[in-house]
Amino acid sequence: MARIGKLEKAFCKDHGIPDTRIFDATGLSKSECYETMKSLEKWVAFGVPPCPNGHELKNKRWKNCLVCAPASLAWIFRSEAPGYLYIAQSLSIDLFKVGFSNDPRKRLVSANCEGWGGASDWRLITRAWDDKAGIKEFDLHKRLAVYRSARSWLRKGRLIQTREAYACTLDQAIEALVYTADGFPQSG
Ligand SMILES: [Zn+2]
Repeated sequence: MARIGKLEKAFCKDHGIPDTRIFDATGLSKSECYETMKSLEKWVAFGVPPCPNGHELKNKRWKNCLVCAPASLAWIFRSEAPGYLYIAQSLSIDLFKVGFSNDPRKRLVSANCEGWGGASDWRLITRAWDDKAGIKEFDLHKRLAVYRSARSWLRKGRLIQTREAYACTLDQAIEALVYTADGFPQSG
């Protein structure tokens, strides 16, 4: 067992990473580290190969140095975040939007404002609580992958594209939600 470096420890404290989420990866390979961190629900690892600046703090994929690129922390927090998985429907383009949000209603207000997916009539159909909604969103998208519908729209003069609108039935969307989320779907 190694001890976390002073700088890395201070970094974790500054960024609100609890000690219980910090993992000692000393002696582990990249894939061993990944698997162990995943099952132990750890967020950051020390005892990893140092970055060019000598820091030893990475996420479970060992992708970036967290000290040099703290922006990737937002990703960690988001992916571990509790919240709602939701299903929304646009009647005008006859598609579903599924995703993760702490406040699906608010999310859809902004989706409608920007014309997300080329529609401005997104309406919340149902939502289900999940302690790890951030990461479960990927499972939900995977379950519905065969119904993916590519959409593009203009936002402030820029072409935006998404593949996260789904041409499924409401039953199929709800079924995917029930299988994925911890909580039971409740009306929006
Ligand atoms: Zn670094």
